[in-house]
Amino acid sequence: MVERATEMGVDLLWGAVVTGISETAVQVSGRTVRTKWIVGADGVNSRVRAWAKLQAHSHSRLRYAFRRHYRVRPWSSRMEIHWGKSSQAYTSPVNDAEVCIAVASRDPALRLDNALEEFPELNRRLQGAEISSTERGAVSANRKLKRVWRNNVALIGDASGTVDAITGEGLGLAFHQALILAECMKAGDLRPYQAAHRKLALRPSLMARLMLTLDRRPALQRRTLQVFRRHPQLFERLLALHVGELSPYDLARDGVTLGWGLLRA
Ligand SMILES: Cc1cc2nc3c(=O)[nH]c(=O)nc-3n(C[C@H](O)[C@H](O)[C@H](O)COP(=O)(O)OP(=O)(O)OC[C@H]3O[C@@H](n4cnc5c(N)ncnc54)[C@H](O)[C@@H]3O)c2cc1C
Repeated sequence: MVERATEMGVDLLWGAVVTGISETAVQVSGRTVRTKWIVGADGVNSRVRAWAKLQAHSHSRLRYAFRRHYRVRPWSSRMEIHWGKSSQAYTSPVNDAEVCIAVASRDPALRLDNALEEFPELNRRLQGAEISSTERGAVSANRKLKRVWRNNVALIGDASGTVDAITGEGLGLAFHQALILAECMKAGDLRPYQAAHRKLALRPSLMARLMLTLDRRPALQRRTLQVFRRHPQLFERLLALHVGELSPYDLARDGVTLGWGLLRA
């Protein structure tokens, strides 16, 4: 991406800090840069969002996530989600000799060492493995903004709202928003961006809500997995929905199957 941007003539000001915006300019590390458009891609605590008065938003209950890397040979090429009593553990193979472990819960005080006790199998795999990064935390939630643009300012990525980390969707969503925003800028009209942005967030928000109904409900987790075992095609279809290959409407029928299966399980 950096190579492509450079090829296209983009000036990358690494380490520069944006300290203010006006209608026609951005203040960057003491310099004034004249602008036609301003895109706030400055993350969940976006200052551009505040400067453009786009702050009003609603969010679901906050969740707290902590992550750390371990020097251990990955036991699977896939990412895994382990469901615990009060948290989920996410494992991601990073390379041939390192795995990232993240734990998310509603308890801001639940750190990795204590949380891992909820996952005996995972804990066993990590026994004796060297810890190769410091523990770092972040807040996760579904956040929705009333507006994602005003005048010549548009927000993108986490600055424009977030979906819970359980979806693994943050980056994908930002790239899809970028494609649409670029079209709007090319056409000289940011208005269509609002509706398109809302539409893009629908599927991941729905999946986040669906997955989080299992949070802290071990009995429901067990039943759901039983239903998936009995109807593997249902799991496949939910996965297809998650990656955008199916629309939520296609899934109405499967929702009925899942509900019925849960009642009988
Ligand atoms: C626990 C957790 C797990 C996640 N797992 C996944 C996953 O598996 N897959 C996935 O796709 N997403 C995941 N996400 C979401 C993903 O991390 C975010 O959606 C993504 O990082 C958003 O990118 P962004 O560029 O919008 O914001 P950020 O990554 O926050 O980047 C914003 C940048 O703007 C810079 N900045 C801020 N203010 C200024 C300023 N005034 N001047 C100059 N620069 C500034 C910051 O330094 C930062 O570099 C996860 C999130 C969490 C919390």
